[in-house]
Amino acid sequence: MPKMGNYQYTVIHKKHNSAHYGNCEVCANPVGEMYHQTERREYERANGKGTGWTHFGCTDKFGHLECLHSIRRDQSRNRSVKAA
Ligand SMILES: [Zn+2]
Repeated sequence: MPKMGNYQYTVIHKKHNSAHYGNCEVCANPVGEMYHQTERREYERANGKGTGWTHFGCTDKFGHLECLHSIRRDQSRNRSVKAA
């Protein structure tokens, strides 16, 4: 088992709302402004050559921006990237 590091989050603002994607996957209510959040985790490569990123055991959810923020595991150390 490689040594695991911090989680990192990427959030993308989607063009469509609940009518297209369904309700928020966190609170189950309709969403006007739909966001997609993916989580990844840093790990130390077994060969000792630096670190990589894995999606193993990570979440991938659609919903309200506030809801997606609320399910983040480490509220103090995460970083996010918002794309159009
Ligand atoms: Zn929600």
